[in-house]
Amino acid sequence: MKIRDISKGASFSLEVFPPKKSYSLQSVSKTFGRLAALEPDFISVTYGAGGSNIRQNKTVELCRKLKQEYKVEPVAHLTCFNSRKDEVLTMLELMKEQGIENILALRGDRNPDITPPGDFHYAYELIDFIRTHTKEGDFDICAACYPEGHPECDSLKEDIRHLKQKVDAGVSLLISQLFFDNEDFYHFLELCDVAGIEVPIHAGIMPVTNKSQIERMVSTCGASLPGKFSRMMARYENNPQALLDAGISYATEQIVDLLASGVSGIHLYAMNKPEIAEKIKGNIASLIDVHNQE
Ligand code: FAD
Repeated sequence: MKIRDISKGASFSLEVFPPKKSYSLQSVSKTFGRLAALEPDFISVTYGAGGSNIRQNKTVELCRKLKQEYKVEPVAHLTCFNSRKDEVLTMLELMKEQGIENILALRGDRNPDITPPGDFHYAYELIDFIRTHTKEGDFDICAACYPEGHPECDSLKEDIRHLKQKVDAGVSLLISQLFFDNEDFYHFLELCDVAGIEVPIHAGIMPVTNKSQIERMVSTCGASLPGKFSRMMARYENNPQALLDAGISYATEQIVDLLASGVSGIHLYAMNKPEIAEKIKGNIASLIDVHNQE
């Protein structure tokens, strides 16, 4: 099923990552089974560039498993910055063979240890490449967006100009970077509207449930932390259970406000932790039902 055909008042989706090399997919089946049981509209699977054997790519393997065994629509992430065109082409063929119909097309982050081949510089080039090297209808394409602006871009307005170019290359859906202040997201939606970006924009929500996670998140994605969030972290950071409860409450509160404001979808960064996703889905299930019955 194509992402554009999931027409609901409010969509609910999850993001997971493939297990590390040392784990087989079989060994983490229970995790993905529990996440699939939450009946998300789709599950997106992250992509780590590199790996010597493209045909054994774990993102593709997990997507195939989600679709065939768990009957959940997968969205395969695909990055381009550190890849050659022939590698991307092989990956697209593999995805098609495995029945994947939706791709989240990304540039990927710069890696100081890898010299990029220079075939792709931006995500819109990947989107263009997918469009020109596959048949119409093979893939629906999603892309990333940044409510506070991408960290490498000088201003949010300039980032949105680039975003418009990316969407015009052929994007059906945008999924946002995580954020902790809903006002940032609403402001971003207004600017996208003014820029003529008309595709649905799903809000990326990350339940923060441990201290190291927040430090990593802030350094890599630059999300700003509202006072309310910082106070919660400072008060409970040394008590894992209290921090877990507070993090779930914070994410739930964000989602309730986003749904009440009419967002088109919530994309939960589930981090392969079914117990957290289950609690959040339990907290908001009746709200999502309300939107889907309207
Ligand atoms: P782009 O859209 O190409 O933007 C990157 C930068 O280039 C921005 O600053 C933009 O303003 C600028 N830019 C764009 N077009 C132009 C232009 N024409 N001229 C000048 N500047 C331009 N990373 C992974 O490695 N694997 C994953 O699975 C993964 N999943 C992600 C999922 C989501 C929902 C999000 C939000 C991010 C994800 N990332 C992932 C991280 C992502 O790869 C990085 O944020 C990366 O730095 C940017 O990717 P992009 O596709 O948004 O890039």
